Amino acid sequence: MCGIIGVVGSTDALPILLEGLERLEYRGYDSAGVALHTADGTWRARTASGTESVTALVAQCASAPPKTASGIGHTRWATHGAPGEHNAHPHVDCSGDVALIHNGIIENHHELAAQLTARGHVFTSVTDTEVLAHRIEEFLRDGLDLEAAVRATLNEVRGAFAIAVIRASEPDVIVAARRVSPLIIGTAEGQTFLASDVPAILDRADRFFVVDDDQICVLTPSGYRATDLSGAPTELTELVVDWDLEAAQKGGYDSFMIKEMHEQPDAIRATLLDRVHQGNIVFDELRITDEQLRQVDKVTLVACGSSYHTAMVAKYAIEQWARVSVEVDIASEFRYRNPVVDSTSLVIGVSQSGETIDTITALREAKSRGAMVVAVSNIVDSSMAREADAVLYTRAGLEICVVATKTVLAQIVALEMLALRLAQLRGTLSPSRIEELLGRLHEIPVLVEKTLASDDAVAVVVDQVKDTHDFFFLGRNVGYPTALEGALKLKEITYVHAEGYPAGELKHGPLALIEPGVVVIAMITNDELKEKLFANLAEVKSRGATVIAVAHENDADVAAVADFVLWVPATESLLSPLVDMVALQQFAYHLAHARGLNVDRPRNLAKTVTVE
Ligand code: GLU
Repeated sequence: MCGIIGVVGSTDALPILLEGLERLEYRGYDSAGVALHTADGTWRARTASGTESVTALVAQCASAPPKTASGIGHTRWATHGAPGEHNAHPHVDCSGDVALIHNGIIENHHELAAQLTARGHVFTSVTDTEVLAHRIEEFLRDGLDLEAAVRATLNEVRGAFAIAVIRASEPDVIVAARRVSPLIIGTAEGQTFLASDVPAILDRADRFFVVDDDQICVLTPSGYRATDLSGAPTELTELVVDWDLEAAQKGGYDSFMIKEMHEQPDAIRATLLDRVHQGNIVFDELRITDEQLRQVDKVTLVACGSSYHTAMVAKYAIEQWARVSVEVDIASEFRYRNPVVDSTSLVIGVSQSGETIDTITALREAKSRGAMVVAVSNIVDSSMAREADAVLYTRAGLEICVVATKTVLAQIVALEMLALRLAQLRGTLSPSRIEELLGRLHEIPVLVEKTLASDDAVAVVVDQVKDTHDFFFLGRNVGYPTALEGALKLKEITYVHAEGYPAGELKHGPLALIEPGVVVIAMITNDELKEKLFANLAEVKSRGATVIAVAHENDADVAAVADFVLWVPATESLLSPLVDMVALQQFAYHLAHARGLNVDRPRNLAKTVTVE
């Protein structure tokens, strides 16, 4: 999830680009770079200084040519290729004529790179992006202009992109295009801008336009012209922007939490991109053989907090689909209990940052005992990713809010892809069933969008129970980790007592706590276990609890057991946490609001925990 920005027709482009990049830093800061149109060709600067990348770029730009009229800028959140300077955007072609920035993933980059290399192109990065610059170079050499060369290139590309391209020999022109990744155009007298989002150019442009999928725009100082991939003229939709800058940095949302919740469909789409090659599900990095993976006789997942809950979801999926026994461990407990792992064990560490010290040390412990170690992390080249034998990245983009939302769903998606890979290698699912499940996973972003759209209905339910002091979340099967995650979210941002339980376990003790005034939230999205859950709910209802059900739209039976319902769309039951957790995030968010709490700054908590 990188940030991109561009301007043509300015009296001084560089400060506009640098200020825009500072505002886009929330989208990533693995590296930063700019390319400017100058009288002597393109001037380029790139830095990769981690969280300080944009600051370092500002310093490096002290030697930039003064007062240039146009240029492009990028702040990177790496998906393909480590976050080093050689992988920083803008990328250039062999001749240095073309400079290009990209947000997204080019799915068929391997294929295109092999063809380009065979035709003599020399790559200087290991990103998926660079193929675009070289392919555009070829079309330019064939005599096309920049717009036509970009169009011809994009017609060959699969994946997601928001790109901006400049060419030394066509000054004051930027060609930009989009598929999936966001892109906005801004216009003002004599200047035209582009950016990943409005805040980057909010106080520069007078009017804003949204670029749609597969639209190509040619930006000049007098405005823009839009066409589709076939070259036919199209219109952009104008965006009414009436936010101030502070609100705009949250994309118009009142908190990073709600903004990141709304980014979940894209986080899932990005995590699913580029995962199947010639029918095989692939990891991002793999230093163990398929044969070794086939030999695995035990899987252990280690994680903390919300990641522990996603690991629990993975346990159900791996056991069901790959038929191998799975344990899930709290990372901080794993290394201090003399765990039984050896060279046929697969130990998977799950951590958003990839820097969680408890998880890193657990993986080191597993490795020292000869286990194969996999990292699931949202940050490319994190400590965990570097030390592991295999890596699966969640591509949720930078998460700013302390409580995890989009990275949780992206972890579940990545872990379920891993479960399918194990099933594929072990032959425990037929190719057609794997295909079917992949299809269901690809439907999830739309179901998440639908769930997010029912936000008002969740707020109405919250209003009925906002003074409650005790919440119990119940579920069976994957509804159990969903319940745990719902309870954790509530604790984190509302400071209310909440506990998650397997629904069948309540009668073995905690039922003693149920009395009038207690609210029980139950996951009723597994049809096979519905009747069992109904029986558990009858037990709590008869002791005076108020019941809120998370249930499938049109489930007429729910009315008999629930006082209120959070409706969610149905999917395959092992995928249901991807939808049900969204409803629970909304519930926690609205309760925090009702209590006047700042959801982005929960007390006592930090985003990345690097202490034991
Ligand atoms: N795939 C590109 C890279 O790794 C862009 C990353 C992104 O937009 O997230 O450089």
